[in-house]
Amino acid sequence: MTAEIISGTEIRKEILAEIKQEVEEMKAKYGRGPGLVTILVGSSPASISYVTLKVKTALSVGFHEIQDDQPEDISEADLLALIDKYNNDPTIDGILVQLPLPKHIDDKKVLDAIHPDKDVDAFHPVNVGRLMIGGDAVRFLPCTPAGIQEMIVRSGTETSGAEVVVVGRSNIVGKPIAMMMAQKGIGANATVTIVHTRTKDLAGHCKRADILIVAAGVPDLVKPEWIKPGATVIDVGVNRVGMNEKTGKAILKGDVDFEKAKEIAGKITPVPGGVGPMTIAMLMKNTLTSAKKTLGAA
Ligand code: NAP
Repeated sequence: MTAEIISGTEIRKEILAEIKQEVEEMKAKYGRGPGLVTILVGSSPASISYVTLKVKTALSVGFHEIQDDQPEDISEADLLALIDKYNNDPTIDGILVQLPLPKHIDDKKVLDAIHPDKDVDAFHPVNVGRLMIGGDAVRFLPCTPAGIQEMIVRSGTETSGAEVVVVGRSNIVGKPIAMMMAQKGIGANATVTIVHTRTKDLAGHCKRADILIVAAGVPDLVKPEWIKPGATVIDVGVNRVGMNEKTGKAILKGDVDFEKAKEIAGKITPVPGGVGPMTIAMLMKNTLTSAKKTLGAA
């Protein structure tokens, strides 16, 4: 039987429509919607395209959006002063600094300068700590793990008591999603195993998984025979494996052999069109959450 495809593109549309509705209600009740500032330093084409997409999405859901572009040679002190300005701006609920920053600026110093209550990327150590505590302590969840959990929930996959295996232990995907799935709460209460390059029997662990989350960055790492029949498989990997000569665009592949895996899994995410589109939707959701908390609406 072929697996049900969990489409990130479709779920993103649903989430953005829900956010837009809430923003309209917020504006009617409180006289303002969420405010987001995106700070871009320099003119790297990749960074420009990421920022443009974030700005476009924020405007599409009705946010007050400031795109604050800064020259490549801005000093670290001036960038920190800019962040301080937005930390103290009551119309701004979320601050995004597009990475990477130029070499003369310390990324960590800049990210740590963002007030944790406006850190909608959820990279600040305070937000990492809040995630670990769980429950009401959490203000924002990091966007890619939050997107993964949302896909699991919206696909109707039971998580309570499920065996979850997470391949990868990075700070941005593997560790946070593992912790989130192990917490008490909706879309969680799972029994979680984290596997990595030092794991002795990778295949054996994967075969036990009711929910297999793969974030390794290795194309086709997970073989179809490692998948438990009926499992939900979330493929986070985005690997450029060539170039489409007609379109000039990169050919992307996940960490799971999708074509064969979909004949065994119960539900599976594709690459592209799976986890990728969810990240930006969760960024918008975090900004909405921030505004709701500031306004006392949550
Ligand atoms: P990362 O920092 O490179 O971490 C990769 C993790 O996978 C490491 O913990 C590594 O183990 C483990 N790993 C690598 N090869 C392995 C193998 N052969 N067997 C077992 N474990 C292995 O990567 P990341 O930032 O988490 O990203 C992972 C993938 O997700 C990448 O393809 C990235 O592009 C993609 N990604 C997508 C999104 C999105 O769609 N929005 C967001 C973030 C990342 P060790 O710790 O032992 O080295």
